[in-house]
Amino acid sequence: MFQPKTIIEPFRVKVVEPLPRRTREQRAEALVAAQWNLFSVPAREVTIDLMTDSGTSAMSQEQWAAVFRADESYAGANSFFRFRDAVQELTNMPHVIPVHQGRAAERILFSVVGGEGQVIPANTHFDTTRANVEASGAEALDLVIEEGRCPSTEHPFKGNMDVAALQKLLAERSEQVPMVVLTVTNNSGGGQPVSLANMRAVREICDQYQVPLFLDCARFAENAWLIHLREEGQQQRSPKAIAQEMFRLAHGTWMSAKKDAFGNIGGFLALHDDALASQCRNILILTEGFPTYGGLAGRDLEALAVGLEEVLHEDYLQYRIQSTHYVWQHLDAAGVPLLRPAGGHAVYLDARAFLPHVPVAELPGQTVSIALFLEGGVRACEIGTVMFGHTRDDGLQEPGPMDLVRLAIPRRVYTQSHMDYVIEVVRYVFERRQHLGGLRILNEPPALRHFTCGFEPLGWDPLALT
Ligand SMILES: *Cc1c(COP(=O)(O)O)cnc(C)c1O
Repeated sequence: MFQPKTIIEPFRVKVVEPLPRRTREQRAEALVAAQWNLFSVPAREVTIDLMTDSGTSAMSQEQWAAVFRADESYAGANSFFRFRDAVQELTNMPHVIPVHQGRAAERILFSVVGGEGQVIPANTHFDTTRANVEASGAEALDLVIEEGRCPSTEHPFKGNMDVAALQKLLAERSEQVPMVVLTVTNNSGGGQPVSLANMRAVREICDQYQVPLFLDCARFAENAWLIHLREEGQQQRSPKAIAQEMFRLAHGTWMSAKKDAFGNIGGFLALHDDALASQCRNILILTEGFPTYGGLAGRDLEALAVGLEEVLHEDYLQYRIQSTHYVWQHLDAAGVPLLRPAGGHAVYLDARAFLPHVPVAELPGQTVSIALFLEGGVRACEIGTVMFGHTRDDGLQEPGPMDLVRLAIPRRVYTQSHMDYVIEVVRYVFERRQHLGGLRILNEPPALRHFTCGFEPLGWDPLALT
């Protein structure tokens, strides 16, 4: 029997969007105008946009059809009940609270359970999660396993939580811990999955100290598929059955539906606890909207309900994870230093190893991102010292934990030839890496500086590279 080796995109194209094509000169002009910050470059200048996989998915024909069916009633719309049923089918949680995106759920939840003196441990908090925990006055603690902190270490579940560290924390201060969080997959730690075995072990410790376990589940389907592929005894189970077990192990969950629900906007908070749900709904009404729409239109709820079901199709997940792995494999074979293994939604270049001659304080991740855009119109995202470091009192840069450049792959948007092009661009820049230099930050805002700051090349001309 014919056994194809090629994993094809499990869709064909019905509507097309033109790809911006620009010359190197046009991109150079855009970069100078943006002071070398890719967040300030207009999308019309970008040929392949890998800045994020958030809100950038292509919707299916079934999602668009559902958009037309939507019920825009203020209270109790049919669209809400379809959305609620889709979330409950996965989570089995009685309370489903829609929100306009993930961070709205975080703000609501942590304004109820956070606050001064509280500690919230996670494998790794995503940046908006950490910001919302800290804005409530609580402390955000990252307890990812040792392997999850080093780009070059191989481990199938680098998103796992350090169970011994959690046990120690709860033994000492469980009355200060209102919840334990597992981010699946672990976005800030390289899109790495958490195993079922680790989730079960974390849940057992939570039970011992009567602390609830929450999932930050933006990429639950990618996590379930990586469990299916990598965890012993899980190969016969469907990603849906695995996802359902993940949610059964949790007391509550929130989701940025801009990721694994193929939404361009949206999110939810789902809970077992009646009292907590009622407190959260009270805040929701104040700032998001009535509990049956929570800041979304009926058409958004419809698209998400369909997306939550489609994302667990095995041919989609096989294609999704394989397409990320495809880029990873080709870059690895070319000797480009990468975070290992490939993540679910992105490939991460290790910028410190990519540019060993550029000091960390001179922002090697930003340099690599600029070069990828200038040479090939590929927009990536620095996840390193610009994003997670800060300028010290003496004016020097305090480095971030790692200096990564994330190539995030939007869902169902780009084809294999687009990815072949990206591989070519990265290789081209890598072969010329000795010509690249460092940068310094200009006009730095007080918080989240990576979005708006400007840069200046230090003693080299990025435009001169050929
Ligand atoms: C994107 C994301 C969030 C925040 O969601 P938004 O929809 O961007 O507000 C929270 N947690 C994780 C893991 C995410 O990936």
